[in-house]
Amino acid sequence: MLDLQKEPGKREPVYVGIDIGGSNTRLGLSHSLDTPHFTTLEKFPTSQHYEQQLQSIMTAIQSEGLTHLAGIGVSIAGRIAKDGRSVVVAPNLPEYIARPFAQQLSDQFGCPTRLAHDAVCGLLAEKRFGFIQHFDRCAYLTVSTGTGAAIQLAKAAHALTSSIEIGHQILYGNQRVCLCGQVGCLETFTGGKQIALRYGRSAIEITDTSFWEDFCTKLALGLVNLAMLSRIDAVAISGAIILNNRHLLARIQQHVNAMMRGSTLELGVAQAGEDAPIIGAALLHSVPEETILH
Ligand SMILES: [Zn+2]
Repeated sequence: MLDLQKEPGKREPVYVGIDIGGSNTRLGLSHSLDTPHFTTLEKFPTSQHYEQQLQSIMTAIQSEGLTHLAGIGVSIAGRIAKDGRSVVVAPNLPEYIARPFAQQLSDQFGCPTRLAHDAVCGLLAEKRFGFIQHFDRCAYLTVSTGTGAAIQLAKAAHALTSSIEIGHQILYGNQRVCLCGQVGCLETFTGGKQIALRYGRSAIEITDTSFWEDFCTKLALGLVNLAMLSRIDAVAISGAIILNNRHLLARIQQHVNAMMRGSTLELGVAQAGEDAPIIGAALLHSVPEETILH
């Protein structure tokens, strides 16, 4: 795990990272983007109401007594507008769409604000400090309410990072209807929300070994497809389902190894765990805006 310090001074400029999940919002602080030392603050429930959520974020930042913000980064489970200033697709947070999120935070705190997809933020954290830091072609996968990912293709100082719809790739022969409306998506097997709807209990409560074997097989297939299409070499994996079932990783890796010939794909648990999107949100201020493809 990364070293998360507990008490930075409050007078120096700080970067704020915010991860807005479907259930909870969490904040973290750092004085420097060159080290993995982040202070994680208390979380609060994510509000479906945009104005209420904005107020909760402002209150949380103000309650820390922070007056010199160097930048705010926001990780959100949704697609961001091409200019990086607002949300355009957010199935779990529809009221956030097209609202001037970045501008309002910038105006309130007098500092630059960047937004990005949560998988993009997770990737930035793991690429800078975590499991994929030594790979030029790499991905970050989150297996939680949904199944999301981002990839980065880098050479020297040049890198391009983009979120991808890994959970909505179609698996041949799969007749299940996905919540997105398509038939056959990977996420019908791996998405926490769809698992709960299908089985009447959360994935974490399921102990049936055949269920998990099927889960690992399908997720491995989705990862091999990704590796074949992008030639990525490594994936940092996070999200509640994997973080609570870390033993699954070895089984997924076995299935991946059994399918691939002539190349390899290395899987590892995200070293920052659930904090990766918070750290990565702040790290948005360390990368040029044009390197993130929203
Ligand atoms: Zn789908």
